[in-house]
Amino acid sequence: MEFFDKAEFFSKEEIYNTQAIRLKNTVYQATASRFYRGKLSMAGIKVSDIKSHEDVKKLPFTTKEDLRENYPDGLLTMPVDKMVRLHASSGTTGAATVIFHTQNDLNSWSDLVARCMHVSGVRPWDVFQNMSGYGLFTGGLGIHYGAERLGCLTIPAGAGNSKRQIKMLKDFKVTVAHIIPSYALHLSSVFKDLNINPKSLHLRTMLIGAEPHSDEVRKRIEEIYGVKAYNSYGLSEMNGPGVAFECEHQSGMHLWEDSYIAEIVDPETLEPVPEGEMGELILTTLCRQGMPIIRYRTRDLTRFIPGQCPCGRQHRRIDRITARSDDMIVLKGVNIYPMQVEKVLMSIPEVGQNYIIELERHGFLDQMRVKVEIRDEYFVEDMRILQALQKKICGLLREEILITARVDLVEHDSLPKNDGKAVRVVDKRNQ
Ligand code: AMP
Ligand code: ZN
Repeated sequence: MEFFDKAEFFSKEEIYNTQAIRLKNTVYQATASRFYRGKLSMAGIKVSDIKSHEDVKKLPFTTKEDLRENYPDGLLTMPVDKMVRLHASSGTTGAATVIFHTQNDLNSWSDLVARCMHVSGVRPWDVFQNMSGYGLFTGGLGIHYGAERLGCLTIPAGAGNSKRQIKMLKDFKVTVAHIIPSYALHLSSVFKDLNINPKSLHLRTMLIGAEPHSDEVRKRIEEIYGVKAYNSYGLSEMNGPGVAFECEHQSGMHLWEDSYIAEIVDPETLEPVPEGEMGELILTTLCRQGMPIIRYRTRDLTRFIPGQCPCGRQHRRIDRITARSDDMIVLKGVNIYPMQVEKVLMSIPEVGQNYIIELERHGFLDQMRVKVEIRDEYFVEDMRILQALQKKICGLLREEILITARVDLVEHDSLPKNDGKAVRVVDKRNQ
C-alpha cells in the first residue's frame, strides 16, 4: 500500500492531544534513565505533573554538555541489548555525542523521513539517490530507510566519488537526490569538466540540508540542475533528518509537532521569545523510547513563521536556520554570522561555487580574509578586471557585515572541499 501518514494532516487539536499523551509517556520513560532520574527529581517533577503539551515548560533543559558528561549510555532507558543501532553527531563543535535507537525508534524515524519526502512531492515510483555520507552520520542511513519506507528505488551512493555519482544519476535515470548543498555546488563543476549539462538528467527534485545555507545557494542549485530544492533540517540528537522539512510551497520547514515539541527561546534568558521572533530552537522527542531527550538546547537560531502555510498543514513552520549560536564571529567588536557573507557572495554572478572565511591576527589587529572562487569565464588575465571585481565584492561585503574584509580571488576548484559538511570558517587568530 502506498505510504500515507495521517499525522501529516493532523488538526491543531489532534497535535496538542498527541503531544500531551506522548509527553507524559516520554517523561515516564525518561525516568528510567540514570541521567533523567536525577535531573527530574532534582527539579521536583513527577509524571503526574504532565497534563498538557504546555507542561513541557515545567521541565529542565538538556544541553550538549549533559550528553557529553553522560557519555555513552547515561541517558538510556533500557539495557544496551535492547538497542539496535547508534549514530553520532558530526562533532563540528567538540566531541561527538552518541544516540542509541531501539527498533521501534528506528521505525518511527523512518516514518518521519518518509513523511518529509512525501510532502516535498517524492513518490514510490521515484528513483532516489542518497549522496550523503553513510556511517555514523545520520544523513546516510536515516534518509535511506525513509526513502525505502516510502517505496522508492533507493541508491545508497554515499558521499564523494563525483564521476561515479554522475554516472549513476544518468544510468539509473534518477529523479530525486539527497545531497549536502555545498557538495551540490561542487558537483556542478564536475559536470562542467565532463561537459555534461546537469539539466539533461532526469532529476526533478533535490533534498538539501544538514548544513546552513542561504536562499541564494538554493536558487543556484535549482538553476544549475533545473530542479526544485527542498530544505531538510535535523540533528543527530533528535534522530537526524526528519525533524522539519519544506513542503511544496518552499516557505519554511514544517516541524513535525506530533513527534517533537518545539519551543523558541532567548538563548540568554531561556524565556520564550514573542511569536515570529528569532531565538534558539529547543526540542523534545515524543516518539523515542531508548533515549528520549527533553528540552534539548539545539543552539540553532531560527523563528516560527507566523500564519498558515498555503498547503493547509497545521504543523508550525520554522525559518531557514540562519546560524548556530556558537557560530558567531566576533571581529573588531562586530558580530558577524558566516551566512551573511555567503548571502552576499552567492548573489554575485562572477562568484563560483566555493568560498572560505579565514580569521587572522596581525599584531593587535583582527582581520577577515575571504577567499572566493571565481567562475572560469571571469578569471581573466587582465588585472584591472579582477581588481574591479575584488573591489565590488569587498564593497558589497562591507555593506552587509560593516567591516572591510580582504578578498582573495582564486581559481575555480582550488579551495579545499569536504565530502561531508563544508567547513566555511577557519580561525587562525590563536595559532
Ligand atoms: P549533526 O547532528 O552532526 O548532523 O548536525 C546537526 C546540525 O546541522 C544542526 O544542529 C544544524 O546546526 C545543522 N543543520 C542541519 N540541517 C540544517 C539545515 N537544513 N539548515 C541549516 N543547518 C542545518
Ligand atoms: Zn506547507
